[in-house]
Amino acid sequence: MTRLVLVGPPGAGKGTQATALSEKLGIPHISTGDLFRKHIAEETELGQKVKHILDSGGLVPDEITNQMLVDRLEQPDTADGFLLDGFPRNIGQAEVLAKELADSDQKLDAVVQLQVSEDVLVQRLLARGRSDDNEDVIRHRLHVYQSETAPLLDYYRDLLVTVDGVGEVGEVTNRVLTALRDRT
Ligand code: ADP
Repeated sequence: MTRLVLVGPPGAGKGTQATALSEKLGIPHISTGDLFRKHIAEETELGQKVKHILDSGGLVPDEITNQMLVDRLEQPDTADGFLLDGFPRNIGQAEVLAKELADSDQKLDAVVQLQVSEDVLVQRLLARGRSDDNEDVIRHRLHVYQSETAPLLDYYRDLLVTVDGVGEVGEVTNRVLTALRDRT
């Protein structure tokens, strides 16, 4: 279980769980959101291009996101596995990922869905207070998740492992690890 994707709406705890899981499983955690925020903090050309998109809660255009992800996946630390967090976020990105993996005779082992009710999501995001965590932007991100990202749950139905994302952090991590173990 070394090539994994984590999906779930904003606020589901993907970043927190990805950090814990990558440590437990010994695979790199690749977050497209973190990569974008790093570009923005460092004021790179890419960062300047995407800043207003992150601030408004929309998706960065696929050609930018896909290239950044493919470059990251081609780094040698991903040879034995990786945990993707925030990518793919639509079917087109999933197809790019499938092709990139197929080109090196790899495939995904599982797609973990973190399930959390919308009420809990909004509460968590408002409490987090990142610059894109005000109420209007949150609503927009949840809407984008439903329309763009949720279709991936069907696209990945044969790989899907659904886990209840509500509870103490370590408890949720254990649920994911158990669910992955039970799959094999
Ligand atoms: P969250 O899980 O709260 O949505 P992320 O850190 O995953 O936060 O993403 C923050 C923002 O980064 C998104 O709202 C979007 O603008 C951009 N982003 C991240 N990943 C992608 C992606 N795969 N495709 C397009 N945009 C992305």
